[in-house]
Amino acid sequence: MKIEEIHLYQHELPVLNGPYRMARADVYSLTTTLVKLVADNGLFGWGETCPVGPTYAESHPAGALAALSAMAPGLIGADVLPMPLHDRMEGLLNGHSYAKAAVDIAMHDLLGKHYGVSVSDLLGGALADRLPSYYAVTIGAPDEVARVAAEKRAEGYPRLQLKVGGRAIEEDVAAVSKVWEAIRGSGIRLAVDGNRSLTTRDAIRLSQECAHIPFILEQPCNTIEDLQKIRGHINHALYMDENCTSLGTAITAAGTGLVDGFGMKVTRLGGLHPMRGFRDVCVARNLPHTCDDAWGGDLIAAACAHIGATVPPALLDGVWIAAPMIEGHFDSKNGVSVEGGHVRPPKGVGLGIVPEEGMFGNPLASF
Ligand SMILES: [Mg+2]
Repeated sequence: MKIEEIHLYQHELPVLNGPYRMARADVYSLTTTLVKLVADNGLFGWGETCPVGPTYAESHPAGALAALSAMAPGLIGADVLPMPLHDRMEGLLNGHSYAKAAVDIAMHDLLGKHYGVSVSDLLGGALADRLPSYYAVTIGAPDEVARVAAEKRAEGYPRLQLKVGGRAIEEDVAAVSKVWEAIRGSGIRLAVDGNRSLTTRDAIRLSQECAHIPFILEQPCNTIEDLQKIRGHINHALYMDENCTSLGTAITAAGTGLVDGFGMKVTRLGGLHPMRGFRDVCVARNLPHTCDDAWGGDLIAAACAHIGATVPPALLDGVWIAAPMIEGHFDSKNGVSVEGGHVRPPKGVGLGIVPEEGMFGNPLASF
C-alpha cells in the first residue's frame, strides 16, 4: 500500500469559555491542521496537529502547513508503514516533529483500516479500555481555582493539574494551598505545572513552602539545566514536559535520573511511532507519564487515547484531551469525550474517527 494523494486542511477550534490561561499565553481559539492520506487502494487516513498558540512550544499553525507542504510532494509513492515513512520524512525535512506527527497519525489510521484493526492494536495492544484523564485548572485567583478543583473532583476526575507561574510566587503558593484544602482526603492526585515560567529560585520556594502537600512538579522552569539545578533542592517528584522534544532527550532524562516522570505530547515527539518507543523506555525505567497533546480535535484525542490504552495502567498518569473545552466533534457518533474524568478510545478500525464529510471545507493544498 502506497500513498497516492495528500490533502491538507486547517480548521478553527474556539476555546469554550476561553481563554485557556497558561503562564506564558492566553489562548482564545486554535487553528488545527489536518492531513488526509489517500492510498493506492482507495483507503484513506486522517491525521492532525494543533499547537496551543505560538508560544507554548516551537510550533505554530502556519509552520505546520508550511512543513507539510514542503514534505508532501516527496511523500507521494511512499510505503504506508512506520519505518519507511519516518525515514522518508527525515530525508525531506530536518526537525518539525509536530508536522511529521500529523502524517504519522494519518498513516496509523490508514494502516489500521487496511489490516482491519484499531490503532491501539497496531501499537502493541490495549491494556485497558477506560483511561484516566485529568483536568487542567488554568491560572486564576486562589479561591477561584479551589472552587474549580472541587467541582472537577465531584465530576470524577482522578487527577488535577494546576497551572502556576507568570505572577508573584506568593499567589501560586496560596493557590496550591487552597486547592489542596479543596481536594485533600479525596484521593485525587495533583500536578502543579509551571509551563517553563518559574525561576529556579521560585520553583524551590514553591516546593519548600508546600512541602506537606503531595503533588508532582511539572516543568517548573525553562531549561533542562534549570531542572538539574533544582533537582536536589525540592521536596516533590519532578516531571519533564516541554523540554522533552525527542526520544533521545527522554532516554537521557530517564537514564540519568533527572526526572520521576513525564508529561508527554504525541505531536511533540513526532507521532505515534516515536511515542511507542518513548512508552517502552518508560516501562523499562518504571517511569509514569501522560499521553496527551497540546490541543486538537477528535483525531488527536483518538491518537492519545489509543497510545494511552497500551501503557501499563500503573504508569499511565492520564490522557488529557481538549474535548471539554471544544464545542462539538469532528465525528458526532464516535468523537472522544471525557466522562466521569475518564476517556475511552473509539471503537472500530484505525483511529475510529470519521470526520463528517466537508467539515474542513476545501483543502488548502493537494498533492
Ligand atoms: Mg505540562
